[in-house]
Amino acid sequence: MFESLSEKLSGIFDTLTRRGALTEDDVNAALREVRRALLEADVALEVVRSFTDRVRSRAVGAEVVRSVTPGQMVVKIVHDELVAMLGADSATIDLDAVPPVPILMVGLQGSGKTTTTGKIAKRLTERGKRKVLLASLDTRRPAAMEQLAVLGKQVGVDTLPIVAGQSAVQIARRALEAAKLGGYDVVMLDTAGRVTLDEALMAEVAEVKAVTQPHEVLLVADALTGQDAVNTARAFEDRVGLTGIVLTRMDGDGRGGAALSMRAVTGKPIKLVGTGEKLDALEEFHPSRVANRILGMGDIVSLVERAAETIDAEKAERMAQKMRKGAFDLEDMAEQLAQMERVGGMKGVLGMLPGIGKIKGQLDNANLDDRLFKRQRAIIMSMTPKERRNPDLLKASRKKRVAAGSGTKVEDVNRLLKMHRQMADMMKAMGKGGRGGLGAALGN
Ligand code: GDP
Repeated sequence: MFESLSEKLSGIFDTLTRRGALTEDDVNAALREVRRALLEADVALEVVRSFTDRVRSRAVGAEVVRSVTPGQMVVKIVHDELVAMLGADSATIDLDAVPPVPILMVGLQGSGKTTTTGKIAKRLTERGKRKVLLASLDTRRPAAMEQLAVLGKQVGVDTLPIVAGQSAVQIARRALEAAKLGGYDVVMLDTAGRVTLDEALMAEVAEVKAVTQPHEVLLVADALTGQDAVNTARAFEDRVGLTGIVLTRMDGDGRGGAALSMRAVTGKPIKLVGTGEKLDALEEFHPSRVANRILGMGDIVSLVERAAETIDAEKAERMAQKMRKGAFDLEDMAEQLAQMERVGGMKGVLGMLPGIGKIKGQLDNANLDDRLFKRQRAIIMSMTPKERRNPDLLKASRKKRVAAGSGTKVEDVNRLLKMHRQMADMMKAMGKGGRGGLGAALGN
């Protein structure tokens, strides 16, 4: 799977990660190569374009974490965006409904639909311990019905007896009835395939769907057909409505264009992939594992993840050093307010401090709700960087401008400045080993 794409991408990133520093031009040059590799892999143009745009904007704005190189950072961003493109979370077949749960299998002839129906039945029986009934709705090809019956025998699953002359809808009704009477958990309906998409096929599938109300409608599509598989999926999604996709022949697919475009184009998850002719050659589709396989750079990705965990700690340490020196300006205060919002507001922060219960009443009086934080941050953001570093600059006319800019009143600006002074004093006192305490900061 994905061999040729993977080879190209690792070539691009090997060069990139070995460089000590990267310019925007380097990133752009690498992304041009990534773009070419994805297009050669037959990924849909619109998907490639939005992928490279997202990677570029994240890479340019990214803060490079200490102990990783900019190139490694770019690899991590590409990895994350690949995972997003593939659908983020893995999806599985959903059987959470009143049994017998109907599953409708749709797709073009030759896509591997009947084989896949057998593979899924085997998996549900063996791993899921479900009792499965199979039914072929292919009224035009008796051979297809026979094929399903043979498959059923191979995997040890019952098939609905064939009754000549019935329509697809009649067979579907009979299957549901038989599944109910027979106490089956799942009933899989293998619809007829056609060589190409046509309206008669779509109308029949839509009618069967309306009658059986399936819990899953799975499109089986051949990965080797690349963008044709994606177009087929889009057509079925528009006309019939799908819940997921099974991509077959992934074992022979070195390019991966269908797998990479499917989710982004159709909005539907790939739930399973076929990886061979054998009846147990069926795998779950895990976007992050697939992205790792494509990039072949799992080590770098986990390295950057670990390093990222430490940046917050480093930021906190820098802040503490500043506080000890008594240099706590409004920029720092804005950062503190933002951090408080991230950890769940003032109540969240205070909830983490021991012994806070005793002064809880005082806190409520202090009217510290989270809207206040937001307002205060807005006030700080309306100041110029110079004012933030040196609040003494803020005289009457500047205060008026800041109040207008943040949609507040001059009193609010005054209150914020007072609070900042108190926080700065308290931090200085704490830095010197004195006992400022929370009460001092709150003006009590
Ligand atoms: P249908 O017409 O869509 O029902 O297609 P079939 O189920 O009859 O499959 C057509 C051929 O594709 C058969 O020879 C299968 O063994 C083969 N096939 C199905 N799935 C896969 C797969 O995931 N990998 C490979 N290599 N072959 C597959």
